[in-house]
Amino acid sequence: MSSIPIPVAVLGATGSVGQRFVSLLDNHPWFKVIALAASDRSIGQPYSKACRWILSEPMPTWAQDMVVTPVTPEAIKARIVFSALPASLAKDIEPEFASAGFAVCSNASSYRREPDVPLLLPEINADHISVIRQQRKQRGWSGCILTNPNCTSTGLTIALKALDNSFGIKRVFVVSLQALSGAGYPGIPSLDIIDNVVPFIGGEEDKVEWEPRKMLGKLVDTNIELADIKFSAHTNRVAVADGHIVCASVELDAPVLPEAAARAMTEYQAPASARELPSTPKPVIVVRDEADRPQPRLDRMTGKGMTTVVGRLRPDPLFHLKFVVLSHNTIRGAAGGSIYNAELLVQEGLL
Ligand code: NAP
Repeated sequence: MSSIPIPVAVLGATGSVGQRFVSLLDNHPWFKVIALAASDRSIGQPYSKACRWILSEPMPTWAQDMVVTPVTPEAIKARIVFSALPASLAKDIEPEFASAGFAVCSNASSYRREPDVPLLLPEINADHISVIRQQRKQRGWSGCILTNPNCTSTGLTIALKALDNSFGIKRVFVVSLQALSGAGYPGIPSLDIIDNVVPFIGGEEDKVEWEPRKMLGKLVDTNIELADIKFSAHTNRVAVADGHIVCASVELDAPVLPEAAARAMTEYQAPASARELPSTPKPVIVVRDEADRPQPRLDRMTGKGMTTVVGRLRPDPLFHLKFVVLSHNTIRGAAGGSIYNAELLVQEGLL
């Protein structure tokens, strides 16, 4: 393992996901934040001035006086950069960092579909990280890019993995109820969302219909074969601060009892390589049996925000099974997931 602590930086540190990184990296056992980077608006200012802090946890003291740097490899002396940049910027900036030798753990969608870029949820597809060797060879990078999925696909895909392992999945129909922090800060104007539901999130349905297929896919040599599962998604923005709900109906290879599905999810374990990392969700999935759970306000911090919470498992009259999934979008669905990916990278000797 690389010598500890490993210096890391956050790109897009002032935003909704960037702030989560700063909070979750406080006292991390392996990583030490040495730079916080953002746009021209913030560069040169102490982080506490540049950033409108929106988390309930206080801003860590080490971050308050850190002067915000530009998002360029020359300005940053870290080994790992956590990217919370808008996808339009990440497209050009992340390869510059990877080419300069940094490991880029990205939240942006820009490289998720590239065959040589792992799209990771370590508790389900830790083995996919090995495509980084191919990425380095093909692109001539000494660094690398690894990505985590869109925050709505995250909890859904973890729950589906437990079902797919035990019963096999054919088709999935989902409706999401997505929190406001998923739209970044300041995000949606209050008059557009109070007393309202917005039944459109640009590009989201396409992501939820594609990304789970890569993560549930099989690694064959250096290739990830997409899972042969059909998805249909409706995505909606609702007036909740944090925590995405997904209502799912699933067709399996054969009917199963809800009790058997609950057991498969409760007993699901991460692969051995991802089971004992600092950010490993413990447990991976919690199944609640109350009629009205999970709920974002009550259940999003289960397992420090890293555990996927499932409830309302019941027979589906059209498909076989239906249930509700909750996942914390800026923790498991973004910053926490990216840190978990970086821990796997270090443990596998790929940094
Ligand atoms: P956000 O709140 O809008 O934050 C964007 C960050 O990028 C800010 O720090 C901003 O800095 C910086 N930035 C913007 N323009 C820049 C430029 N030209 N040069 C350098 N830095 C620039 O967005 P977010 O919600 O945190 O999302 C960040 C990324 O994560 C996006 O790609 C998003 O799709 C993805 N993601 C988000 C979630 C979620 O739940 N929010 C989940 C999964 C993935 P300034 O403050 O200085 O402008």
